[in-house]
Amino acid sequence: MSNIEQTLSIIKPDAVERNLENEIKEMFKNDGFSILKEKKIQIEKSEAENFYKVHETKPFYNDLCEYLSSGPIVVMVLEKKNAVLGNRELMGATDPKNAEDGTIRKKYGISIDKNSVHGSDSVENAKIEIDFFFKD
Ligand code: UDP
Ligand code: MG
Repeated sequence: MSNIEQTLSIIKPDAVERNLENEIKEMFKNDGFSILKEKKIQIEKSEAENFYKVHETKPFYNDLCEYLSSGPIVVMVLEKKNAVLGNRELMGATDPKNAEDGTIRKKYGISIDKNSVHGSDSVENAKIEIDFFFKD
């Protein structure tokens, strides 16, 4: 029984702005992920609010939505065995200063808000998030 999964990844504005798109994609590929779909877009704040609705009661919600909509982002569907957990491991801790060596956030993250990447946190949310950006 295979557990090939798909997960949603976003390269956030701080990383796109520093031209880190290709380097981050290389990290995914080197870790065995296939990039099935990708697009570079800029979203409206209202779309960011929908995307991050799970955080709507958090004190950082408004700034987070302002930030995600502040510049171009790259959204991708990544696939490999156990992709959801594997991507969380490759991303590293939410706050780059707690992220392990070898993770994307350790290497590129600036701060807890400018932490370079998003990744789905469960298989169920991965489906919802992939639909959010790629449902046609
Ligand atoms: N975030 C923030 N301040 C916090 C916690 C989170 O700005 O105290 C931002 C951060 O950019 C994070 C996003 O909100 O990536 C979503 O938070 P979550 O806890 O889901 O972290 P993630 O799943 O991205 O590691
Ligand atoms: Mg999260």
